[in-house]
Amino acid sequence: MPDIAVIGGGITGLATAYELARRGHAVTVLEARRIGAMASGWTLGGVRQSGRHPAELPLARAAVERWAGLDAELGAETQYRRGGNVRLARTEAEVAVIRALVAEHRALGFDIEFLADNAAVRAVAPAIGPAVLAASLCPTDGHADPDRTTSAYRQAAERHGATVREGVSVRAIETAAGRVTGVATSEGRIGADRVVLAAGIHAPELLGPLGLDLPLRVMQVSVLQTVPVPPLLAQVFGVANADCAGRQQADGRLRVTNGVGPWPGDPARWSPDAVQPPAAAVGDVIARVAQVLPAFADIPVARVWGGLIDLTPDALPVLDAATGVDGLVVAAGFSGHGFGIGPITGEIVAALATGDETRFDLAPFALSRFAGTTGHAALTLHG
Ligand SMILES: Cc1cc2nc3c(=O)[nH]c(=O)nc-3n(C[C@H](O)[C@H](O)[C@H](O)COP(=O)(O)OP(=O)(O)OC[C@H]3O[C@@H](n4cnc5c(N)ncnc54)[C@H](O)[C@@H]3O)c2cc1C
Repeated sequence: MPDIAVIGGGITGLATAYELARRGHAVTVLEARRIGAMASGWTLGGVRQSGRHPAELPLARAAVERWAGLDAELGAETQYRRGGNVRLARTEAEVAVIRALVAEHRALGFDIEFLADNAAVRAVAPAIGPAVLAASLCPTDGHADPDRTTSAYRQAAERHGATVREGVSVRAIETAAGRVTGVATSEGRIGADRVVLAAGIHAPELLGPLGLDLPLRVMQVSVLQTVPVPPLLAQVFGVANADCAGRQQADGRLRVTNGVGPWPGDPARWSPDAVQPPAAAVGDVIARVAQVLPAFADIPVARVWGGLIDLTPDALPVLDAATGVDGLVVAAGFSGHGFGIGPITGEIVAALATGDETRFDLAPFALSRFAGTTGHAALTLHG
């Protein structure tokens, strides 16, 4: 019997499993589909600190330090590149937003610059077009390849003795006398003293029967990937109102997204077809990206997919073991920015599962903060 069952084989579940396994715990990851099948595969793959909520900034800064040595640590190539992040302003109103963002981050002692005009932006990112008036530049932000990263975590976790089971769907978290005893799955019951719930948009379905409410709003994003092109852009780019973002992968392909929009579907009945973007959405992404990166208009698109975002009311995740159910740790609701902090999320969630101290203030990430909440924050910056 595993000490700890982890529900979900995205970056959150796999990084947690790696951290637990290397500390000698018997851990089993249960993944309903295949690893990286949902947000951790759909993602843009940005690894950023800039634009983060102050509560999340310490995690993001620690994550960037960790990413620098991650390939060596995991023994595999994540294609992490620290090329910087530019957040672009297209109107005077957006210039004010970016200026305020830079001032706020600098006040927190964070290394971010304000590029005050188009020439300054193009001096660091020559492919950016004339429609851009100003930008922030965070030189220590970057990006990585999502599939390679989840696979690197899986392999490293398995080398330390973790078991990763794909195609095993958890139907219920079982409890007795207020503590977890295991999980009921499509392949039968699995006993466990502790359960980590890292099931992305599906987390509320497993919490509801325990009397716990995680009020997620599921939002939709379209993602386009082009054919490979010669080096064009080192930075990840976003825009002040987050209605598009993108980066050039290590293999030369551009991967870009639009902003989030409502998704009328039911997460419990999710299938890949349910999120495939319509042609109009594809045209919309191309137009938005080409406005800031003109070369994009002429690059053939090779693949299009849809992604879903697990948006919490304050756009911060839940990282919590004090749910009232002993032995349960919730790690969900990353609100469109859980990839970059994945290495630190794994460290935190592993500590919560084993009762160890963490070096971070987790008060902003308690599940109980949503009691009585109505309404959701607008999702701000992704990418
Ligand atoms: C289009 C898009 C762009 C993004 N861009 C960025 C970005 O640039 N930077 C950034 O930091 N973040 C970004 N994000 C967000 C980031 O990708 C996610 O926050 C992160 O991947 C979440 O990882 P996760 O492991 O928590 O969830 P997921 O990757 O969704 O993993 C959950 C897993 O649980 C499995 N599962 C669910 N229910 C069950 C069950 N009952 N039994 C067994 N398994 C189950 C699912 O199959 C899934 O594989 C983006 C997201 C999207 C969609």
